[in-house]
Amino acid sequence: MAEKGKISIHSENIFPIIKKFLYSDNEIFLRELVSNAVDATQKVKHLSSIGQYDGELGDVTIKVAFDKEAKTITISDKGIGMTEEEVKKYINQIAFSGATEFVEKFAKQEGIDRSQIIGNFGLGFYSAYMVANRVDIVTKSYQDAPAVKWTCDGSTEFEISDADKKERGTDIVLHISEEGEEFLEQMRLKGILEKYCRFLPVAIDFEGETVNNPTPLWTKSPSDLKDEDYLAFYKELHPFAPDPLFWIHLNVDYPFNLTGVLYFPKITNQIDFQRNKIHLYSRQVFITDEVKDVVPEFLTLLHGVIDSSDIPLNVSRSFLQADANVRKINAHITKKVADKLNELFREDRKAYEEKWEDIQTFVKYGTLSDEKFAKKSDKFTLYKNVDGSTYTIEELKEAVKDSQTDKDGNLVLLYTTDKGAQDAYIQNAQKRSYKVIELDGPIDSHFIGHLEQKEEKLTVKRVDSDTLDKLIDKDETKASVLSEAEEKQVKEIFEGIVGDTQKHSVSVEALSTDELPVSITLPEFMRRMKEMQMAGGGMAMMGDLPETYNVVVNGNHELVQKILKADESAQKELAKQGFDLALLSQGLLKGADLTGFIERSVKMATEV
Ligand code: ADP
Repeated sequence: MAEKGKISIHSENIFPIIKKFLYSDNEIFLRELVSNAVDATQKVKHLSSIGQYDGELGDVTIKVAFDKEAKTITISDKGIGMTEEEVKKYINQIAFSGATEFVEKFAKQEGIDRSQIIGNFGLGFYSAYMVANRVDIVTKSYQDAPAVKWTCDGSTEFEISDADKKERGTDIVLHISEEGEEFLEQMRLKGILEKYCRFLPVAIDFEGETVNNPTPLWTKSPSDLKDEDYLAFYKELHPFAPDPLFWIHLNVDYPFNLTGVLYFPKITNQIDFQRNKIHLYSRQVFITDEVKDVVPEFLTLLHGVIDSSDIPLNVSRSFLQADANVRKINAHITKKVADKLNELFREDRKAYEEKWEDIQTFVKYGTLSDEKFAKKSDKFTLYKNVDGSTYTIEELKEAVKDSQTDKDGNLVLLYTTDKGAQDAYIQNAQKRSYKVIELDGPIDSHFIGHLEQKEEKLTVKRVDSDTLDKLIDKDETKASVLSEAEEKQVKEIFEGIVGDTQKHSVSVEALSTDELPVSITLPEFMRRMKEMQMAGGGMAMMGDLPETYNVVVNGNHELVQKILKADESAQKELAKQGFDLALLSQGLLKGADLTGFIERSVKMATEV
């Protein structure tokens, strides 16, 4: 006995539209069909648990099989099954409800992720036609009803007939088309199953092997889990990554549903911001690893899994950003992360300090990019003095308030971007017990800007951006040993050597005798402009900024006395030597100048 009927849709033939429209990611047919099998299995388990089904549940493992010869892929479940009425209702009609409307509405829209549309419009099952030219459903309901077979070759005609299936459940048999032949490969199928079905809640068998972990860590209660469990799960996700620093278990029921585990990776390489390491799931079905819109941008540096059934998966990007649940989830994650960092800092400061190196980029990035996070991050953002001691901003302000205040009462924070190259300046500062903070990370120049904006009466200067007297301008002028005429003469001698005084200014200052005879300072303002330009901060319009620096001659240094007493050519040579030394200590002495300097030094050393 067979019955024929017509599938009710407006469109003459929707399959070509679906095929064409969904073609870009046809591998998701398997995700959809296995998800349906999981749903059907969960339903029958549920009915059994509440006493509405009293048959044997038996082994409910879902099986995925393929037959290269017959060109079929079969997905079998022991789920709830369908009666003939249900097949007609769910497969023939419901599936198409809204389908044409949907295609009309979204086909015009740019940038929508096609793989996410299916399923939410009752199109899940029909994604099979992206790879098959005929699909058979053989199904037997958990209720006492005869088994049925539905078959449809991708036209709008379907056929329902009796089937002799004895066991409860559904077999979906795909007769693979030419376009789908790549899926008749063991590796390909396994790969897709591992990608999308890895954590589905019902065991899935492929070629005698279970391909999924039905109870992934994030579905368990945090109180039942130990550190080892979290580390083991991390290894499962990222087999080659070094151990994470710490993690956060998300577990929210209300007002939205959100579970997951976020791991803080070691950010070893500054450039190597490993994104796309958070995987988004919806009820344990893998959706995407592009979580940009769901997770605050700075948190995309984290690794792990988030699972939410409240994230709409079927809409375009701009809609996702505007979605109220997505915004709430975003805010929740940000808060959790800030709370966790704060807790780690408070509970074990030493351990936190040790991790600081690894998390600072992340914390600063968050501070710069997320206002809500910035409001909290002060408490656990650390500043590291070159001697290794660390401070919060409040502690640091307290520590320098007596020594590093200028004449207007502003605090002056000194920092270094390169301990090695700026060593001479750092040592000078240390002689005066100034603190020099290490700010050498990739986003520190932006972070400094943020700090200055936020903190009143505080300026931040690189340790070599001026002589210390000017850096911390206290209005205490040291007595100069030089007369005004001598000062003028020294200035002229050095200007003759420096050359382009438009770019490089020369000044003679009364510094202490143990400071360098000549030093180069790089104006803070100019340098920051350059740094921002290099970081592509939208300043490319300004053209190349000139390389400018100040040459500061220490009028109180012995060398200056020696220069004043020498004859003209020796004067030049000594001044040049002092200037080159200063350039050298800033790493600015290059090429022929460097060679000349070395030759001169050798000569001087042998003359002595
Ligand atoms: P959706 O899953 O979005 O509802 P589908 O087209 O994938 O849309 O499926 C339509 C309906 O068909 C499902 O809601 C379900 O009732 C029924 N169905 C699909 N696959 C199965 C299955 N393996 N076992 C039982 N029912 C199924």
